[in-house]
Amino acid sequence: MIIQLSQHAGANQISSIKTFFQQKGVEFFFQDFNNQFIVPSFNDEAALKQFDIIKSVIDIKTPYQLSSKNYKTKTTFNVNGVEIGGEDLNLIAGPCSVETEEQIFSVAAFLNSQGIKFIRGGAFKPRTSPYNFRGLGNDGLKLIRQAANKYNLRVVTELMDLSNLDEVYNHTDIIQIGARNMSNFSLLAELGKTRKPIMLKRGMSAKATEWLLAADYLLCGGNENVILCERGIRSFDMQSRNVFDLGVIPLMQSLSHLPVFADPSHGVGKAAFVNKMGLAAIAAGADGLMIEVHPNPEKALSDGEQALTFNEFSDFIAASKPLLNAINKGADFVNNNKILKLESF
Ligand code: PEP
Ligand code: MN
Repeated sequence: MIIQLSQHAGANQISSIKTFFQQKGVEFFFQDFNNQFIVPSFNDEAALKQFDIIKSVIDIKTPYQLSSKNYKTKTTFNVNGVEIGGEDLNLIAGPCSVETEEQIFSVAAFLNSQGIKFIRGGAFKPRTSPYNFRGLGNDGLKLIRQAANKYNLRVVTELMDLSNLDEVYNHTDIIQIGARNMSNFSLLAELGKTRKPIMLKRGMSAKATEWLLAADYLLCGGNENVILCERGIRSFDMQSRNVFDLGVIPLMQSLSHLPVFADPSHGVGKAAFVNKMGLAAIAAGADGLMIEVHPNPEKALSDGEQALTFNEFSDFIAASKPLLNAINKGADFVNNNKILKLESF
């Protein structure tokens, strides 16, 4: 339940509501900047009648509250002039890791030539083995920012832990929280205090409710600029890197107001399947996609097997246009066309 107070609620009136819940042994979270209580396990609306500073009550029966569709119909927000979660599909592309100046600038130039608005690239990489390339760190952040500035792109890069928060914050437009950190609650709570857009990837074995509770960690701190990103879940058949859960896209959109993106690259782990599954994610209603692209996948320092070449990515863009047209959806990489017409391709 979310209990919204009138703007005139004074400190005494707020503390009397706190005392009411404390005496009942009910856990609550008070958002002072929104003047509202979040009380997931309470549903006795009648008992609240005694408090005349309560403006409205939203009864939300799920453990997650602020990410629920009962709280809000839709979240859209703007990242340097590009709307996220709106009518147009958003497309983020780039290498798994920032490797060299030459690599990231060539990717940025290519993406720009395709009309793409967002570049991705990890500088701090979560690697399963400590002996693998773990990213260029701060040098990588600088390179991707410079490449993005030169080619008019927005940056998406991963934050692994709080020790790098300031550097990542200052170099990126969207902070990616990777699958391995979806349950790093102290990291999420800290990011909730910022207003930087966050792309929250699904944990490798996270259920929908767990994923939305992780989003609530960001939202309850006041950061409302959150994207959910499906990236495949671990299952029993190791022939595929992950099981790309297409069904979770409409599911999350029915449960939550947050934009739902999909990452077919990590979802399937094989370049040959990325285009088909990217199209499938668009058909399933994804608000955006993230796709790994590398100038020379065979030489990539991470995730080369799933990276598309420039030509393969161009093929994907070409294939996506008739599909977008068929479902009457625009795309941020098609300039200023809200509704695509086949003639414009
Ligand atoms: C990535 O985007 O390169 C990445 C490490 O993703 P995930 O956290 O989904 O594995
Ligand atoms: Mn990767």
